[in-house]
Amino acid sequence: PSLVLLLSLAPSLFAQEAANSDSKTKHEYQSDVARLRKIVIESLYSHREVFLRELISNANDAIEKLRLTALKDKTIWDGVAPLNITLKLHKDSDEDTGRLVITDTGIGMSPQELSANLGTLAKSGTSEFLAKADSSSSSGNLIGAFGLGFYASFLVADKVYVASLPPATPANPNPEQHVFSSSSDEPSFEVYKDPRGNTLGRGTEITLILKKDALEYTDEENVKKLVSKHSGFASSFPIYLFTSK
Ligand code: ADP
Ligand code: MG
Repeated sequence: PSLVLLLSLAPSLFAQEAANSDSKTKHEYQSDVARLRKIVIESLYSHREVFLRELISNANDAIEKLRLTALKDKTIWDGVAPLNITLKLHKDSDEDTGRLVITDTGIGMSPQELSANLGTLAKSGTSEFLAKADSSSSSGNLIGAFGLGFYASFLVADKVYVASLPPATPANPNPEQHVFSSSSDEPSFEVYKDPRGNTLGRGTEITLILKKDALEYTDEENVKKLVSKHSGFASSFPIYLFTSK
């Protein structure tokens, strides 16, 4: 595992409001998902830095899945295109807002997978966590033992955008990039075609619109420390850190 620092590449601003098109589908979370998100957000505040470990381990899993799938099907990945994870930090000091963007070049998700994997507990490791958390008064102690999963994002973010593009295959030669988005204060999520088009070569880009009290996650030194503390071992692929001041 390596952490490489590349300086001062300003990330492009996510086209947040351009997305209010008719093709947006709004979904209510099932009640267990709503309950889980609430538990995560309310009870794990003091452990909230684990969100980064969860997102890095998901990125790592997605790249590993691409690599393994490509062993049988070379059309998925040519064995040459880089496999890596990128963290971009952006702080807008005037407006007191910040974003953390984590991108991987992994297997990606179709719009159906975005809904099923991120909008339900069917696939989430979080359901296991929830079962344990319900039978214990000290959820904090469980964090090390069980992954908290994608919903840990809402510990630090008011809003989360997940843009994803699966690889082209003979069955799906022209995949289109889609976005899953959800706010921490609404029991719903949306999935829609990315208004920016296919900006990712392949993989997933998660944009966290950070809470006002979580702007420490736009700090380069702080994030570097966190990555080495929690995730040095969680990724077998290079992690790049970009910052813009
Ligand atoms: P777990 O990792 O234990 O399955 P998570 O809540 O962390 O649970 O993630 C739920 C599911 O969402 C994953 O199993 C995976 O299918 C999908 N997923 C999450 N992040 C990514 C990603 N970066 N790329 C592709 N799929 C992802
Ligand atoms: Mg996970």
